[in-house]
Amino acid sequence: MERPTLNMIPPHTAWLSDAGVKAVCTAVSAEGTPVYMVGGCVRDAILGINGSDVDMATPATPQEVCRLAEAAGLKVVPTGLDHGTVTVVAGGTGFEVTTFRKDVATDGRRAVVAFSKDILDDARRRDFTLNALYATQDGQIVDPLGGLQDCLARRIRFIESAEQRIREDYLRILRFFRFHAWYANPSDGFDPDALAAIAANTDGLARLSAERVGQEICRLLAAPEPTRALASMRQTGVLPVLLPGSDTTLVGPVVHLEAELGFEPDWRLRLAALGGDAVPDRLRLRNRDAKTLARLAEVMRDMMPEPEVAYRHGFQMAAHTLIMRAALAQKSVDRTALTALKKASDAQLPVSAKDFMQRFTGKALGAHLKSVEKQWIASGFRLTREELMKLA
Ligand code: ATP
Ligand code: MG
Repeated sequence: MERPTLNMIPPHTAWLSDAGVKAVCTAVSAEGTPVYMVGGCVRDAILGINGSDVDMATPATPQEVCRLAEAAGLKVVPTGLDHGTVTVVAGGTGFEVTTFRKDVATDGRRAVVAFSKDILDDARRRDFTLNALYATQDGQIVDPLGGLQDCLARRIRFIESAEQRIREDYLRILRFFRFHAWYANPSDGFDPDALAAIAANTDGLARLSAERVGQEICRLLAAPEPTRALASMRQTGVLPVLLPGSDTTLVGPVVHLEAELGFEPDWRLRLAALGGDAVPDRLRLRNRDAKTLARLAEVMRDMMPEPEVAYRHGFQMAAHTLIMRAALAQKSVDRTALTALKKASDAQLPVSAKDFMQRFTGKALGAHLKSVEKQWIASGFRLTREELMKLA
């Protein structure tokens, strides 16, 4: 694999040659003010990951950014003028351009900010060293805080004092574990200062909205291997506060089985494995996700056989049921079981109410059809139409 040199963005990075990025940078820097890519897109480029949103930072004020962009014929949306952010549209994409800022006051979630001309101010108000990296449009990395070494080593470290960073914004606790799950070297542990500061500040988590907690936890659970981050969230007391009643025991086995069977990570399955009280409310889940979780819990509780789950609720629900049960029983799963479930999910009852209308009416008709369907499922979907018609 190609290693980035220590001061340049890898040349194959998509945004380096993106016409929209170029147009915005050219416009904002037309009078000599610098503009930088910042945060996730720089971090991801250094780690060889493409596809992240490109955010920009500049010492130019929002008014100046608007004027310069409009002078270049670009559309400007004043997304968050007070916070210093304007969206500049180029090549059909909106780019958030944010004026360098420093925090003046913080309340544990939102900050009052002042604009700054100093990139160091802007870097110091960010969360982790690997998120405080900047790059020019031609790919020069600008590293005000020494985050590049951490990024290359996949180390998640709070900028300066972990304790202070957390008290400024408790969401950073969740971002710490999410970035750890996604980016950290699997063989590396957690930064001990960070863990100590987190454990000492779990009270502040109560200030976070259910939406933000939900977004972060779901994104964390979607990481290929979230097990260690979750275990650490439990040990530091974060999980008991956010998801009382949850238990991390099953997550590892479920993640393992999911990968072994060739499935993409599914955060809902991992969340089902984690469990907890009133999870949809605490994480403000979307209705259809809450329904999926409730259904999985229901078929587990009712001990519905997996082929029946496949027939009634589809292949994925059946596969998830299979995985949960295998994890609970500490067993492995035979891939051939999936073939049977796929077949069951496609099975169609070869009779309908119409076929029994001569013999039954009203409630009795419904009951008979149900009983026929039950026997058909019990036969492994094998009973033929003729056989089903003859059932008493
Ligand atoms: P991703 O988009 O993959 O979640 P990201 O790093 O781009 O990763 P964003 O939430 O898009 O994350 O934020 C962009 C940048 O803004 C971050 O890289 C970081 O520098 C800064 N940032 C975002 N949220 C916070 C926060 N809560 N505290 C401090 N800095 C933050
Ligand atoms: Mg981002």
